[in-house]
This record gives sequence, C-alpha cells and structure tokens, in this order.
Amino acid sequence: MAVGPECARRVVTISVTVLGSSGMYATRDRACSGYLVEAGEARILMDCGSGTWRNLLQQMDHTSLSGVVMSHRHPDHVSDVFQLFHARRYGQTEPLPEIPLWAPPETLERVCGFAAELDQAFSLHPVSAADTIDLGGVRIAFFSMAHPPETVGVRIEDAEGVLAYSSDTGPGGDLEALARDADVFICEATLQDDDLEWEGHMTAGQAGSAAAGAGAKKLLLTHLPPERDAGLSLTQAHKTSGQAEVQLAADGLRLELP
Ligand SMILES: [Zn+2]
Ligand SMILES: [Zn+2]
Repeated sequence: MAVGPECARRVVTISVTVLGSSGMYATRDRACSGYLVEAGEARILMDCGSGTWRNLLQQMDHTSLSGVVMSHRHPDHVSDVFQLFHARRYGQTEPLPEIPLWAPPETLERVCGFAAELDQAFSLHPVSAADTIDLGGVRIAFFSMAHPPETVGVRIEDAEGVLAYSSDTGPGGDLEALARDADVFICEATLQDDDLEWEGHMTAGQAGSAAAGAGAKKLLLTHLPPERDAGLSLTQAHKTSGQAEVQLAADGLRLELP
C-alpha cells in the first residue's frame, strides 16, 4: 500500500525549539535562555531571556502563544517578557486577551515592579515547587532548584513523552525527580569541570551525572557562557552521562519527543 506524506509523518505530541541557549548574556549568534514548547494544542514560551523574542518570531506568530512560564527572576531568563507584553497590549487596535503567565511569586513581583501594567496582558499565576498545571492531556509540574532566587525546574509531559528543564541550578534541589525518565532533559552546564565552584550552577560533568542518575534518554546542555569551548563541555558531560545521549543546545534547534 502506498504511504502518503501525511501517513508517513510521525505523530508528535511534544516538541521543543531552542530560542536561546547562552548563559548570562546574549551574543551575536546566541540569545539568552528561552524555549518554545508545543504540547498538544498548547504553545508555551518557557523562559524569555534577551534575544528570545526575535527568535520566537522566526518560529511562529506570537499571537498564537497559549502561555508563558518563567523559572526565576534573573534578567537572562525574563527580560524579553516586556517585548511580548508590548506586542499583546499595544500591537493591535485592541489588546489581545490575557494569557497565563506562571512564575515564582518573587519573579512576578519583580517584573511587575518594572511594568505595573503587565497584568493587562497576562493573567498572573504564582507557582512554586510541587505545583502542577493540567492543560488537557498535558501536565506541567514544577520542582525546586538549587539557585539563589526561588527557581523552579519545569517538567512537561503527556502520555507519550517527558520534557524536563533545569533552568539555572546547582547539583542539589529536586533535579532527579524533575528529570526522572525524561526523553529530553534540558540542563544547565554553566561551568566546566576545572572551574571554581559557583553556587547555583553546575559543571558539564555534573549535568551528565544528573542525566544518568535520573535515567534521562537525551541530555541537552544549555546555559553555556559565551566564549567557552563548548566541545570541552560536551566531552566532559559525555564522561558522566551513562546511557544518556548528549547534545549541545543551539538557537533554532527543534527536538520532537519521544
Ligand atoms: Zn541564567
Ligand atoms: Zn539565574
């Protein structure tokens, strides 16, 4: 029997597109942290650091976003939320309807301190570790990460696949529960193995160990600072990652789960 293109295409329920993968500040080629997650009918912007807005526009019409998740208040994870705010509030004759914005309470407080009218574009939902959101067959769960301001790791799953995102974190917190059996584990690797310890961040080797410990299938290394030898980070993560496949995050990379 002939198989048409529509039959041959794999059914994808969750996909993630990297909108930014640079740690701390953006470069000419890499925006700060941000990911577009498409899960069922939902299109979620997960973190929105500097430069991610323009990369989002390369991927989709922003008016079809369903919601925004922000992991913590650091500027390299939130600064482009103001671009989306202006576009939804002032980009049309009439403001677009509010969409949910989920973030830790302190993060919401800080971004609203900068733009008090943020609640005219978003319905603001404080979230903390152990909270879950049900989006009709897609579940978003939040986990406590080891990073100085309140920071949530984000696990998005449906019946077919699991996506886990560490945001910024040291090797503690609920990393193992966050990434348990994940198909794709997006994990920060700000440091390399010979670096001095920096509280709230991990080395590439620690990211590899976290992926192996959790039984993740694929580890996507992210939040590498500019001017790092990314190949060295990849090698170091490989040494500890066990069965997990390791890949470097790159702006524009799209992965389909499972
Ligand atoms: Zn960061
Ligand atoms: Zn941070």
